[in-house]
Amino acid sequence: MKASRLLMPTLREAPAEADIISHILMLRAGLIRKLAAGVYSYLPLGIKVLKNIENIIREEMDKAGAQELLMSALLPAESYQKSGRWDRFGDDMFRLQDRNKRDFCLGPTHEEIFTETVIDSVHSYRDYPFTLYQIQTKYRDERRPRFGVMRTREFLMKDAYSFDISKEGLDDSYKAMYQAYKNIFDRMGLNYMIVDADSGAMGGSGSQEFMVISDVGEDTIAYCEKCRYSANTEKAVCLSGNKSTEEMLPLRKVSTPNAKTIEEVASFFGKHEDSFVKTMIYKAGDKHVAVCVRGDREINEVKLSNLLGGDEVSLADPDDVVRITNAKVGFAGPFGIGIDVICDNEVMNMRNFIVGANETDCHLENVNPERDFTPSIVSDIRLISAGDICPVCGGEIKTAQGIEVGHIFKLGTKYSESLGLNYVDENGKENPVIMGCYGIGINRCIAAIIEQHSDENGIIWPAEAAPYKAVVVPVNVKDEVQMNLALEIYDSLEKAGIQVIIDDRDERPGVKFKDWDLIGIPVRITVGKKAGEGIVEYKLRSEKEYSEIGSKEAIQKAEAYIL
Ligand code: ATP
Ligand code: MG
Repeated sequence: MKASRLLMPTLREAPAEADIISHILMLRAGLIRKLAAGVYSYLPLGIKVLKNIENIIREEMDKAGAQELLMSALLPAESYQKSGRWDRFGDDMFRLQDRNKRDFCLGPTHEEIFTETVIDSVHSYRDYPFTLYQIQTKYRDERRPRFGVMRTREFLMKDAYSFDISKEGLDDSYKAMYQAYKNIFDRMGLNYMIVDADSGAMGGSGSQEFMVISDVGEDTIAYCEKCRYSANTEKAVCLSGNKSTEEMLPLRKVSTPNAKTIEEVASFFGKHEDSFVKTMIYKAGDKHVAVCVRGDREINEVKLSNLLGGDEVSLADPDDVVRITNAKVGFAGPFGIGIDVICDNEVMNMRNFIVGANETDCHLENVNPERDFTPSIVSDIRLISAGDICPVCGGEIKTAQGIEVGHIFKLGTKYSESLGLNYVDENGKENPVIMGCYGIGINRCIAAIIEQHSDENGIIWPAEAAPYKAVVVPVNVKDEVQMNLALEIYDSLEKAGIQVIIDDRDERPGVKFKDWDLIGIPVRITVGKKAGEGIVEYKLRSEKEYSEIGSKEAIQKAEAYIL
């Protein structure tokens, strides 16, 4: 490719709309342009990267024995109505009607459609197992599209679905995808962690996320360096800790005028927040519950929702809190509250703590659960934090931010049961098919790679992802000797099957170098004054130094590096 023919609108300045490195560099390097919030166009260099990522994924999925197919993005409502997700997706789903007023959506994910396709295709146990996948556009009307292509409303996903007739079969299919994902993310040059993930209240038996470690990641990962336990904090297990050996003191009501927040109450009593138990009133479906955790802890709403059967949970309206507690907001407690009390497991091991008294300006001191009240449910419902105890080995938990690039999930029979995907076994009996699903966000992978591979001059692509692998830069395009040698190198690289650019633009070398550093081409071969002696400059984007070597050697080195 000649640089003079390439649409590569690089920008010198960081555009105001972008605030993270990958977004800034994708705009500056001319990979993408924004059309609307969470909607992007891919320019020629951008689509090359996208295709490279697709190819890595396609190769590894094929190698793992999965079969590619392609579903429509325009999908009839009925499929999602049957599974219940037409309602559950809410405003996240892009909906539309055809000319006959029939409801459709733009597919946010395709479990239903794959399941129905298999229903229509095979029936006997002999036809199983198999894994299907597609690389296709998804639509989600995200509440907060942001960070460039990291979270968009239209994005490419590789979604795969496995179909088995035994639990062991599902385990094997899941393992094959797990290994394929490792190969995929290794080839992308990503530094990632594989973490236990939440699988919802009824969402099957196992789920893991592939998290790219990055400060801009929206997920928090809890991990232990000692035993390598790692989990999304949504999922990470919190232990109850040791039982306090303090003597139980007499229960006491204390007047606490104007102290409402946990900080205010703590300073009133002159105690640390961990001497308190806070009680939060939640709305879960159509009922209310009181949730108690230690004063310095956070409630994990994902765990709470799972505990309550998958209902969406949110903090109760202040009016409801007043009605339920018979007090102003800020004085809720577990005593005589008239709704179910859910206690975090840690609270049960505490002694002599302070709670709200369900009476304005009053708290109760020296509360002891084994003596004073019985919760309706005791469970792990708090969010893990750095410094907590590892649930596996007792080591110390650390936390890091992660970008979720992939998710693998044992669905079990959730969709086969709701949609009626059965196989007929050897005895002529019908049983539900056991499914798994496996997603990778393709656009998000590009952003994640850049977050981990850049410097002050621009992107540093791992060779497999790079839009072009090498660039040949004649310093003076009007110098015939330089231009001829540059073309010779260009031709041999191209013949070797390397995607290569020749920078035939009549620009100063500094301008050219800046562009290729920004775009992140892995290998640069500069042909300058020593062209007559057959000597060129060979430089890798990932290294600061260049070497002066013969043109033949430069070609060999480039081939060895790229191929
Ligand atoms: P998130 O929690 O980030 O919203 P998700 O749990 O909704 O992700 P899945 O439904 O599991 O994601 O989708 C599979 C993959 O698709 C994710 O691992 C992620 O890489 C990608 N993905 C999901 N939503 C988006 C989006 N809005 N923009 C770009 N990629 C996305
Ligand atoms: Mg999402």
